[in-house]
Amino acid sequence: MTVTLHDTDHPASTPGGGGPGDTGPLTIKGTAVELVDIVKTYGSHRALQGVTLSINPGEFVALLGPSGCGKTTMLRALSGLERVDAGSILIDGTDVAAVAANRRDIGMVFQSYSLFPHLTATQNVEFGLRMRRVDARKRAARAAEALDLVGLASFGERYPHELSGGQQQRVALARALVTRPRVLLLDEPLSALDAKVRVQLREEIRRIQRELGITTVFVTHDQEEALAVADRVAVMNAGAIEQIGTPEELYLQPSTPFVADFVGLSNRLPGVADGDEVVVFGRRLTVLGESASGEVTALIRPEDLELDERAGGADDALPAVVVGSSFLGSMRRTTVRFEDGTLASVQHDVRDRPVPDAAVHVRFKGRPVVVRSR
Ligand code: ADP
Ligand code: MG
Repeated sequence: MTVTLHDTDHPASTPGGGGPGDTGPLTIKGTAVELVDIVKTYGSHRALQGVTLSINPGEFVALLGPSGCGKTTMLRALSGLERVDAGSILIDGTDVAAVAANRRDIGMVFQSYSLFPHLTATQNVEFGLRMRRVDARKRAARAAEALDLVGLASFGERYPHELSGGQQQRVALARALVTRPRVLLLDEPLSALDAKVRVQLREEIRRIQRELGITTVFVTHDQEEALAVADRVAVMNAGAIEQIGTPEELYLQPSTPFVADFVGLSNRLPGVADGDEVVVFGRRLTVLGESASGEVTALIRPEDLELDERAGGADDALPAVVVGSSFLGSMRRTTVRFEDGTLASVQHDVRDRPVPDAAVHVRFKGRPVVVRSR
């Protein structure tokens, strides 16, 4: 994304908008955000089909979903960069439908660094204040404070090309926060960074968010990232929210097959459902979420299966053959083939090292599972 200083309509050049409290320390009072039945269409495509989401003051919500499910559209609707066809957006209880993007007090950080290449870190951070005609002394003080907040106090004179990707995103974060927005929106801010920096920076974003108490929506397609940082995660699919809950709720009690599949890894085993139970290879398991009947696919986590390498195995163990096994550092994942040819992944201790073609037994730990009709 190329941005020039004169391109003032560009989203990257209008971080936040006229935040309250021009003086005093950089603290931000938590703001409630409510999206009610938001619909957005592009031509005949319904990018958002009635999205409702309530975010508490100071809450960190991750919007998680596959590419194209409408995450960016939702952030743009919230920020005012995109007009919606129906529904309302309430910030602190006030409908902002008619409020322009630069008057909504929202700070944004994008995936691409989107810094002005010909401006220093300090000048980049100051930009939103300059647009608001904040005087030079106050600007300098606030830019320094924001850079300090993101751990770049001594990097103010550097140009973007003199900063690493992670540092550039820190500057982008400082630039989004310097106007003291009521809400912070981050659209896949870590996607362009390497794995280690990604983890560091997400912890940093979380620390800063907590410190400021700023209501935050963090968009990602990476489920691990969402689970690691958010108070609550909203899982989106095809323009709608499938489930919203704490990371634990989503992982342990996915309410739809899509969520069970997208959040964490699930095996797909054939089963026959009967109300609240499903029979998989002759073993009865409890069904989570909606009950079903007839032939279904049961979604079972690799950690809900157990390998039993003893000959014969326990009474309730199922015979299987090892296809392969991967060492993953803190655990091992072994792929097995059941007698009917179905493949499944079993997660287990690294000290167990099954070899390909070995005959093993697999046990269900008996945790409830989500089913999907076949
Ligand atoms: P995500 O951020 O989850 O990857 P987006 O919100 O960018 O998804 O897009 C959601 C859907 O809307 C996609 O199918 C995309 O192609 C479509 N879309 C997004 N922006 C536009 C646009 N300006 N014009 C037409 N279609 C669009
Ligand atoms: Mg997107």
